[in-house]
Amino acid sequence: MNNIENLYRQVIMDHYKNPRNKGLKGYPHVHIKNPSCGDDITVEAKIENDVIVEINHQGVGCSICCSSASVLSELLKGKTVVEAKALIKKYFQMIKGEAIVDEEELEEALAYEGVSKFPARIKCATIAWKALERVINGDVDEE
Ligand code: ZN
Repeated sequence: MNNIENLYRQVIMDHYKNPRNKGLKGYPHVHIKNPSCGDDITVEAKIENDVIVEINHQGVGCSICCSSASVLSELLKGKTVVEAKALIKKYFQMIKGEAIVDEEELEEALAYEGVSKFPARIKCATIAWKALERVINGDVDEE
């Protein structure tokens, strides 16, 4: 394992063991399951004047899924909806193994770059991001 892979692994394990912004508060949310892995996650966001002022998540799943929800909540909190959409798109491109520009904008989310080599884990790394994408698009769950 080289140094950068080791660093990325530490980021993932840190967020898995000490998740940030965990626990729902009742904002508009989306719940997504990934039956192939057992990931089951809900992401909610409070959006005011086109700025994401709060992102929370709750659920169970593998280290990739749960840690990425935590990383996402920190990265996109405080961003405008337009900025968040651009970062989500960039993250999906990275996960698919596509070349991206200004990759440093993804900060800790860069830790999931290696997932592109493991197609079975792509759903794990994108489930929370897909849920948040739906929340900011207003495509939220009813209950
Ligand atoms: Zn998973």
